Amino acid sequence: MSFAHETLGQRVRFASGDAAAALADEVGRLGAERVMVIAGNSERDLAERVSAELPVALAYDEVRMHVPVEVAERARAAAAEHRVDAIVAVGGGSTTGLAKAVALTSGVPIVAVPTTYAGSEATDVWGLTEDGKKTTGSDPRVLPKAIVYDAELTTGLPVELSVASGLNALAHCVDSMWAPRTDPINRALASEGIRALAEGLPQVVDDPAGLPGREQTLYGAYLSAVAFASAGSGLHHKICHVLGGRYDLPHAPTHAIVLPYVLALNAPEAPEAEQRIAAAFGSATALDGLQELRRRTNAPRALREVGFTAEQIPDAVAAILPVVPDTNPTPVTADDLARLLRGAQEGTDPR
Ligand code: NAD
Repeated sequence: MSFAHETLGQRVRFASGDAAAALADEVGRLGAERVMVIAGNSERDLAERVSAELPVALAYDEVRMHVPVEVAERARAAAAEHRVDAIVAVGGGSTTGLAKAVALTSGVPIVAVPTTYAGSEATDVWGLTEDGKKTTGSDPRVLPKAIVYDAELTTGLPVELSVASGLNALAHCVDSMWAPRTDPINRALASEGIRALAEGLPQVVDDPAGLPGREQTLYGAYLSAVAFASAGSGLHHKICHVLGGRYDLPHAPTHAIVLPYVLALNAPEAPEAEQRIAAAFGSATALDGLQELRRRTNAPRALREVGFTAEQIPDAVAAILPVVPDTNPTPVTADDLARLLRGAQEGTDPR
């Protein structure tokens, strides 16, 4: 066995029902005195609840999906003007993404309080979008210094969004099985992530306000992000990255829809991934497990339902083909990609 695995350093707290105290402690550990609290419109109430005890210098709410550069520039200017010395991001991946954009140029430390299952809080990956092109990179400055997970903050996340977001996390796990830097450690984390998400998500659907399902799903989302940060972007993330940035498709539903098609393409050539994923689901095959979870949670089915048209497929294939990882277990041709996108666009059976 021979591999090099990098573990990212951050404090991680699970504090169900106790985010305010845990957050005050984490901000105190940084010695911060002028905090910028970033939260989007539907996250503002949650942010006010958890930041009441903090030395808030600026409450900022101009959050947009995929972090347009002009939005990032305005947030950076506001942070500089208010001389903030810490950023608290309360919200989903878009909110964490804006905090990362500010940290990238200023070095101001972030404490993340996630309210979806996107997992951005546990990665050192930033993303910015300009003229329909999303650029990503990794930088240690954008990795939050601490994460505070409080399942109570996610009980108001609508079920449909919760399912899409949880399947986004599942996609981190599945793609980690064959991503360019995959190794036994991130595959082990990904396996446990799949198990936790498959256990938690049906509970979230049955009892959206209940804590046990939300806690399992948050735990799985964290593991998924750690695995993904270590393994890097595999074929699934490359496809969704192009679709999200180029056609402005919603992030989590796009991941939720595309995943079974990538799994169907790769699993036959990736026996260890197939075996691990099936075992984590407790199902006969990896795809059976994923499809059963998708059925059970009434997951989104077709890209046409989120605004992707059949006419856009050739353009998407041309944009994805050059970024297909050469480590992908299955060699991928333009025809394969066109078939995959046609299936996902229409929502047909991936088998
Ligand atoms: P999002 O952050 O856009 O949130 C979706 C919607 O849910 C928003 O309207 C938000 O305000 C609302 N919301 C969030 N939490 C809520 C709650 N608890 N209750 C009610 N409403 C709530 O979507 P997302 O899927 O969390 O994140 C997507 C973004 O994150 C994308 O831009 C993606 O590229 C990025 N991302 C980055 C990484 C990374 O490692 N850099 C990883 C995953 C995702």
